[in-house]
Amino acid sequence: MELVEVKEGLARILVPKAKRIYDAPIFYNPVMSLNRDISVLSVKVLKPKRVLDALSATGIRGIRYALETPAEEIWLNDIKEEAYGLMKKNASLNIEGELWEEGDRSYLWGEKIVVINRGDANRLMAENFRYFNFLDLDPFGSPVEFLDTALRSVRRNGVLAVTATDTGVLCGAYRNACLRKYLAEPIRGPLCHEAGLRILIGTVVRYAAKYDLGAEVLLAYHRDHYFRVFLRLKSGAKKADRSLSQLGYLWADKSGRFEYERGFLPSRPGASGPLWLGPLKDKSFAERLLESAKDHPLAHKKTVPFLQLISEELDVPFHYDTHTLARSCSLTPPKLETVIQRLRELGYRATKTHFSPTSVKTDAPFRVVVGVMKNVQAD
Ligand code: SAH
Repeated sequence: MELVEVKEGLARILVPKAKRIYDAPIFYNPVMSLNRDISVLSVKVLKPKRVLDALSATGIRGIRYALETPAEEIWLNDIKEEAYGLMKKNASLNIEGELWEEGDRSYLWGEKIVVINRGDANRLMAENFRYFNFLDLDPFGSPVEFLDTALRSVRRNGVLAVTATDTGVLCGAYRNACLRKYLAEPIRGPLCHEAGLRILIGTVVRYAAKYDLGAEVLLAYHRDHYFRVFLRLKSGAKKADRSLSQLGYLWADKSGRFEYERGFLPSRPGASGPLWLGPLKDKSFAERLLESAKDHPLAHKKTVPFLQLISEELDVPFHYDTHTLARSCSLTPPKLETVIQRLRELGYRATKTHFSPTSVKTDAPFRVVVGVMKNVQAD
């Protein structure tokens, strides 16, 4: 395996040389450096003591946690033998300390404790019951096969971070897979990404509820080909009940109109869900991330603008796609800024959304948004 060195954040790591990222024997995707930036900033802001990077591949994520955050004990894990070898190499290249090995596990003792493990993530998490303050699941595809053990391995009041790259499944391109994996009906069309993200959160909330854990969303977003969610887990049946009460259903039609409703079961046919209808961020957490991003050695130049967009985004369920609305009313799509401005003049709240460059998030009803669009056209 030929290796090349790449720089990301404060880390320098060796990755397999490959023409296409999916051909490499050990996975490294530079596009995900924004995902890792935001994760590193989260760990920096939250200051968890023990962190697990359960699906490490090259080790980049866990190594960045060790180098760029105050975490004291960092675990890296992968099931692949080759990945285990590379994680050890990369950890020793970046982190000072003495390495000693014990079967499928190595320890790097220095200022911090870094544990490098080869094994099934589910087994490792099951063996470490309520141990980690911050647990990161960043798999290929769906995280569902790791959720149960992750929820048992994270400490009460700890944070679970989850990536899902099975966007086609959560967005309704593969409906049956969504029913199987997430027990939820997806939706296609302009709301598919927000609905997919909310289906993912809804699934974690339902898995957590059986352990009497409630979940608070610190941050959830969609970008590129993936979804990412940071959840604070709160102990107690009442907390779990409260989280479940934020689940519900969505109805949307071709004109861009939508309705949603909280409830355990849908009140009528044609619903998408169940999905999370609660907040997608804790505003102060998002602002702290943005603040700490400004003086951090970030890997991706879009991290700060993206965090800025997310912290300013109005946190209400779903959004109106101005192009869809324009099409159904036979209008030329107006400038998004103008629509936002007009809605604000009418006393509504309105912002851009990271889900789509042509959409508006607003608390104005559908008919008002359509009215505004028609007025802009008439001017
Ligand atoms: N988090 C990494 C990318 C991980 S890719 C990053 O930020 O770069 C997913 C990894 O999960 C692969 O290396 C694969 O070998 C590993 N994997 C798949 N199933 C696993 C399992 N059951 N237990 C542990 N690792 C697993």
